[in-house]
Amino acid sequence: MKPVIALVGRPNVGKSTLFNRLTRSRAALVADYPGLTRDRHYGEGRMGDRPFLVIDTGGFEPVVKEGVLQEMAKQTKQAVAESDVVVFMVDGRQGITPHDKAITDYLRKCGRPVILVVNKAEGMKYTAVVADFYELGLGDPLVISSAHGDGVHTLLEEALGKVPYAPAETEDGIAGEQRPVRLAVVGRPNVGKSTMINALLGEERVIAFDLPGTTRDAIEIPFERDGKHYTLVDTAGLRKRGKVFQAIEKFSVVKTLQAISEANVVLLLLDAQQDISEQDAHIAGFVLESGRALVVGINKWDGLPPDKRREVKAEVERKLHFLSFAKFHYVSALKATGIGALMRSVDAAYAAAMAKLSTPRLTRVLEEAVEHQAPPRRQGSIRPKLRYAHQGGQNPPIIVIHGNSLENVGDDYKRYLEKHFRDAFSLTGTPLRIEFRSGK
Ligand code: GDP
Ligand code: GDP
Repeated sequence: MKPVIALVGRPNVGKSTLFNRLTRSRAALVADYPGLTRDRHYGEGRMGDRPFLVIDTGGFEPVVKEGVLQEMAKQTKQAVAESDVVVFMVDGRQGITPHDKAITDYLRKCGRPVILVVNKAEGMKYTAVVADFYELGLGDPLVISSAHGDGVHTLLEEALGKVPYAPAETEDGIAGEQRPVRLAVVGRPNVGKSTMINALLGEERVIAFDLPGTTRDAIEIPFERDGKHYTLVDTAGLRKRGKVFQAIEKFSVVKTLQAISEANVVLLLLDAQQDISEQDAHIAGFVLESGRALVVGINKWDGLPPDKRREVKAEVERKLHFLSFAKFHYVSALKATGIGALMRSVDAAYAAAMAKLSTPRLTRVLEEAVEHQAPPRRQGSIRPKLRYAHQGGQNPPIIVIHGNSLENVGDDYKRYLEKHFRDAFSLTGTPLRIEFRSGK
């Protein structure tokens, strides 16, 4: 499980600036997909080999009235509840405000480690900056500048140091045996996830869900279908906790993110009887960002009249165009129709995600692509030269292209290459990443 860091503080202290800094590389990745809106409240970052999730609570700020904090907004509470460690940010140029004190009172009771961080401290004397904030009683403040990056690494070390670390065990292949496909079923509330899981698991579900899931560990539920083995990836409820967090909602973005990141293939469910919402698109965006293989199930297809069905299909194609690499299935979890075909797409997506692509074949396909259409020379720059390609990873497949002046390859041409590789290797159902490595 990835550690979860919540960024908390009153408006304008610099939370989103820090969030962007912590999650930068990922955001850039997603920007490659036109038409994708995403929730910038949740992001993934990495320190060394250690990935983590960050929640920026800016935008669902605590409610303030006459300078007094009335209530931490529900979402902020949820973010804190779902976190492993809270980074509480204050503004070094403004000093303590009543609002900071009110947040402190709340955080003191939250049962999470809290790191007090004084931001906007660039060019200021350490002692002068921190003196004020000892009064909050949260220990030694860390001093940072989100805008310039000073102190951010130390902050991360401190934050991640509060969470026990068990590096993922390396999975040596079980010779000759098929590894179960790890499948996560995600979607916004009420799209039919539980109904689908029931349909997939049948009787087993009862047993599985009785497992004592007292921590936030992932629950893994093995099941078999048509002689194939799968593991359903779910994340258990939140850690056992006192009254403070009883109001946590059934649907949790963090749980969704964790389940996605632990899976090989994600089954994204939508509700055919409702419009596609922003929340659907956000979740789709998370899947895309994670690089996991994807199958989209448009559920509740039963009982829809033909003209409505046409309408829904058109809407799905228009709004989820950025997922066109994935197979779409129109199904009913309730009536258990369409599920066989859907699971065959899960298998195909898994196979594509795990495909082994040899250097000679990749290079041959690259040469074909270039022969068919050479990368355009942009004005005033050297024409890129694409020499050979090798595979840099699986799930998602990463294709690393070597050559010269590759920084001059435009986005259009990158997309062209992606499509070419996708077609050549029949990589349906998985995102594909192309990376360039210039010789000079
Ligand atoms: P949020 O409301 O807490 O998310 O705050 P923002 O990240 O939107 O930042 C509020 C303002 O503070 C913006 O104008 C930022 O440019 C500025 N800011 C953020 N971090 C720093 C910093 O480290 N130093 C300075 N001087 N300004 C900062
Ligand atoms: P979850 O919140 O995503 O787990 O959704 P549930 O599985 O709890 O389903 C929400 C509601 O939608 C329930 O009333 C289900 O009976 C209903 N539902 C789920 N799948 C279908 C379906 O395929 N067709 C119809 N008509 N209703 C469904």
